Amino acid sequence: MNNRALFLRYMAQTSPAPIGLEIVKASGNYLVDAEGKKYLDLIGGISVCNTGHCHPAVVEAIKKQVDAYLHIMVYGELVQSPQVAYAKMLADHLPAHLNCVYFTNSGAEATEGALKLARRFTGRGEIVACNKSYHGNTLGALSVMGDEYWRNAFRPLLPGVWHYDYNSEDLVAGINERTACVILETVQGEAGVVKPDPEWLRRVRERCDEMGALLIMDEIQTGFGRTGRIWGFEHFGVLPDILLLGKALGGGMPLGAFVSSGEIMQSLTHDPVLGHITTFGGHPVSCAAGMASMKALLDEELIDGVAAKEALFRQLLVHNKIKGISSCGLLMAVKLDCNEDVLRVLGKALVESVFSDWFLFASDCIRIAPPLTITFDEIRYACSVLLKCL
Ligand code: PLP
Repeated sequence: MNNRALFLRYMAQTSPAPIGLEIVKASGNYLVDAEGKKYLDLIGGISVCNTGHCHPAVVEAIKKQVDAYLHIMVYGELVQSPQVAYAKMLADHLPAHLNCVYFTNSGAEATEGALKLARRFTGRGEIVACNKSYHGNTLGALSVMGDEYWRNAFRPLLPGVWHYDYNSEDLVAGINERTACVILETVQGEAGVVKPDPEWLRRVRERCDEMGALLIMDEIQTGFGRTGRIWGFEHFGVLPDILLLGKALGGGMPLGAFVSSGEIMQSLTHDPVLGHITTFGGHPVSCAAGMASMKALLDEELIDGVAAKEALFRQLLVHNKIKGISSCGLLMAVKLDCNEDVLRVLGKALVESVFSDWFLFASDCIRIAPPLTITFDEIRYACSVLLKCL
């Protein structure tokens, strides 16, 4: 059996039609398959590889940490310098009140930890969430996800979760004295890149304050320069009480985090003690990798180029089959007529050495979220291929 057959035989399959390409190497903006064919990567591991695949500084930091120690103890007991240094670096680049970091294994676990923290801090049980939102796939995260098709088979879910449309006044009105928190994506990703109306977001913030509810903003996909600012919320002038991070946070290694104030986080230390427990959360190798990646992102000024790269994609992707483009930095949804068209274009683009994907709740859109290191020439090439495939 070849590796593709072994993959299909021995690995749990969730996709009815997995891409099934065997990748043997990834570097910068390219993936290389078992036959040595190179693919320009337009999705960067789904918004993970913001500094490119295997950035040399990230690989070096991983090797250095591997030589020092791997897992030594569950989260939060021993002083592990990669965790401490990265937590400080994150706090140094966040608004003053977001100064306390809980590292997790994944984005979904960050969502779980944040929902628990909001309930514990407020003493309330109810949660306000958005339709077409995505916050992860564990049961708590699935309960706040905003799409019935994807969550219905896994009921019963968390009670007391109320979904409203993003950008709707109903959501603002739905926040009341029973609400522990509102959870929303700063920019909705899987919905096909939907930006918040800044006025609406301000009203959500105000209503949370009036009602004593916490505001959780999910920047798992929008953080680390993806939108053209280091954090997506910088575009909209609204700050969360709890921030969710993941994906690019680990520089290609698994890592998530929920970040809040020391005062709010403190509530996880008592009644019960150990308010959130994880064995591997904040793995030292992941933290070393993530910190090196964030340093490269800033030192190489990768965020500065995002707006011009977004503009070039928008300028070049003009075709009568393209019904619209929704974007926030290098998180872009290119709308076609239907999912069949999207899959057909993606399949053809792959043959032409360009790798991309679609969105969970906007299956009629092509996802474009390349490493922020993509060059202008590579954007020109990618667009010429996509237009040809259309
Ligand atoms: N939140 C958002 C906005 C996401 O895009 C994702 C993953 O796609 C998650 C949460 C879940 O992260 P993970 O897959 O690491 O659990």
